[in-house]
Amino acid sequence: MSFKALVLSESDGDVSSSLTELDAADLPQPENPVTVAVDYSSLNYKDGMVLQGVGRLVRNYPHIPGVDLAGTVVDSADGRFQLGDEVLCTGWRVGEMHWGGYAERARLNADWLVPVPKGMTTREAMAIGTAGFTAMQALDALESVGVQKGDPILVTGASGGVGSSAILWGAAMGHHIVASTGRMENAGDLKALGAAEVIDRNEIAEAPGRPLLKERWAGCVDAVGGDTLAHVLAEMNYGGAVAACGLAGGNTLTTTVIPFLLRGVKLVGIDSVMAPYDERIRVWERISGVFDSERLASITTEVALADIASRASEILAGQTKGRTVVKTGA
Ligand code: NDP
Repeated sequence: MSFKALVLSESDGDVSSSLTELDAADLPQPENPVTVAVDYSSLNYKDGMVLQGVGRLVRNYPHIPGVDLAGTVVDSADGRFQLGDEVLCTGWRVGEMHWGGYAERARLNADWLVPVPKGMTTREAMAIGTAGFTAMQALDALESVGVQKGDPILVTGASGGVGSSAILWGAAMGHHIVASTGRMENAGDLKALGAAEVIDRNEIAEAPGRPLLKERWAGCVDAVGGDTLAHVLAEMNYGGAVAACGLAGGNTLTTTVIPFLLRGVKLVGIDSVMAPYDERIRVWERISGVFDSERLASITTEVALADIASRASEILAGQTKGRTVVKTGA
């Protein structure tokens, strides 16, 4: 059986993509293989890096990118999954080390698959995808270290996938969300998602200058890193917590230990890629408890498989808004 896939190849360090017809026999053979007819994938920051060959995330070409996928089981060697089951996959280095979701078919290790939650379509699962999953992991982590409903939670990189999702989930969970954006023209949209306040990211973009600044935040979902994270650490309330999720603004962190020692601030690392199965099920359950189809649709843009490669530079430049789903079939 043949299927379409976006295949990356590499020549002298340059990565290029082409829509290619492959045969089922070309698919990899992992342990406990389950073959999925992919309905949708999505565009994450990491997909942008893979499509542009940034960061050497992919070591073996030809390669099929797409860190997320959702679809229907069409073949299964694993008793946990039957033909016709709707499943999703995020992380596990699919789309970077293993072939991913930018194809009509994928063959994956059953351990990497999660059932699509009841009441959610495969398209909605991908509108959430890695970014929405990470946003809920971050909020869950903040709550587990004491952040309470109503406390001010700062969300950085608010117009992006992780940021928009953190606003949607956080507001629905009863938190007071303050969105930080470099695109103040999006303020109205961010408020419509549930942000109680919107601030210009320039307020928090510089290194803080002093170890402690005026207390502002009980929690922070940080998708930006770099000097923004250093600044936010200096502004945390006594006992506050930051969930460090991303590096859209830089991967270095120059700070002092003072916020940790004098204010008991907590810095919690968030990794969605290798999250264990039980955590995945719990996080998806929490998402399905708060997600609202209409609001999710308002942050979702759909593109065809043939058009996704052109979006890579936009997401790396911080120019996309919300989430982009990739329709794999016609
Ligand atoms: P997006 O590109 O969708 O969003 C990032 C947002 O950050 C942009 O929309 C922009 O928002 C802001 N931004 C971009 N560039 C800069 C800059 N130079 N300085 C300050 N702000 C900037 O990406 P995602 O939301 O998908 O991912 C965000 C980050 O989280 C990435 O670094 C990604 O690698 C990471 N990530 C980590 C995961 C994990 O498991 N830990 C999982 C998923 C993502 P605005 O215009 O509103 O300011």
